[in-house]
Amino acid sequence: MDLADRPPRAAPPARTTDGEAAALAEVARRYATAITPALADLIDPADPADPIARQFLPDPRELAETPNERADPIGDAAHSPLPGLIHRYADRVLLTLHHACPVYCRFCFRRTRVGPGGAALDAAGLDAALAYIEGHPEIWEVILSGGDPLLVSPRRLDHVLGRLDAIAHVGVVRLHSRVPVADPGRVTAGLVAALRRADTAVWMSVHTNHPRELTDAAAAALARLVDAGVPVVSQTVLLRGVNDDPAVLEALFRRLVRLRVKPYYLHHPDAAPGTAHFRLSLGEGQAIAGALRGRLSGLCQPTYVLDIPGGHGKVPVGPCYARPDRGGTGWTVADPAGGLHDYRDDIGTPQRD
Ligand SMILES: *Cc1c(COP(=O)(O)O)cnc(C)c1O
Ligand code: SF4
Repeated sequence: MDLADRPPRAAPPARTTDGEAAALAEVARRYATAITPALADLIDPADPADPIARQFLPDPRELAETPNERADPIGDAAHSPLPGLIHRYADRVLLTLHHACPVYCRFCFRRTRVGPGGAALDAAGLDAALAYIEGHPEIWEVILSGGDPLLVSPRRLDHVLGRLDAIAHVGVVRLHSRVPVADPGRVTAGLVAALRRADTAVWMSVHTNHPRELTDAAAAALARLVDAGVPVVSQTVLLRGVNDDPAVLEALFRRLVRLRVKPYYLHHPDAAPGTAHFRLSLGEGQAIAGALRGRLSGLCQPTYVLDIPGGHGKVPVGPCYARPDRGGTGWTVADPAGGLHDYRDDIGTPQRD
């Protein structure tokens, strides 16, 4: 696989004081570590709680694991029919071309599998994966996901997308990427051109967690995609100490919508090994999602989702505003400020025939 010719540089060790050096060496042994210059430049070394540093610099707390954490927190393995494919929902399949990312997020849900060393899908593996997709006419959408699909060369991307384009029942290809934020210069005109297909609609989903990531260079990369007619949505992971604050998320989602990117999902953090210090409770997440409902337009609202541990799928877990009223004849509906209101279904008189 022709991966990045500019390999990401290793992250500088964080906060190395005394005994921490050994712990950090052990973290680096267990999990891949990298940060790009674009993101490293955003870190304020004077701020011990810097939200960019926290996402990418190894931390000794990663060595602490809880009993509920799993190497495969969302149960991918149970739904993998072939190397490189995860087929959990009938109409869509995840295709992983390789395992490298431009940065290695310390909270990554696939952290035991991503890394620069993992085996990429070779020509025979790609043929087999494409044959599987061809043989399953129910597959309508193919998602290219981490390893980051934008780390392959425009030529390779053109080849893969061309072959997917030729499968009649594949209508949509979605690319999940950190590249527009982590290495915006890689979103070149050649790469963008590879995303325009004759038949398939190619969508981009950009992973971004903090408004500071959306620099002028990142904004320009996103504009190149949108201007070329590639619809872009965003995915954000809700993370303690990074964005667990309605004001931070408000700034992030407003900035995204200004950049013509639709906030798609706000992910509850998955129980990946050594990530407890990033997690918050579902109740805390709901309170944050509820606060956003009151202050942001619908266009700025992502859906707050949980990937149910064990491979049962993603479901919305945001606050529920409507519940059946006590008498069972109607509903009580909460407004964004918390006021309660009666609602009656009014569906006319049922007709018999
Ligand atoms: C998240 C995920 C998808 C995509 O789900 P959407 O709700 O369509 O965004 C598809 N397959 C797998 C295995 C996933 O984990
Ligand atoms: S970009 Fe995605 S797949 Fe890659 S390390 Fe970050 S969370 Fe994991």
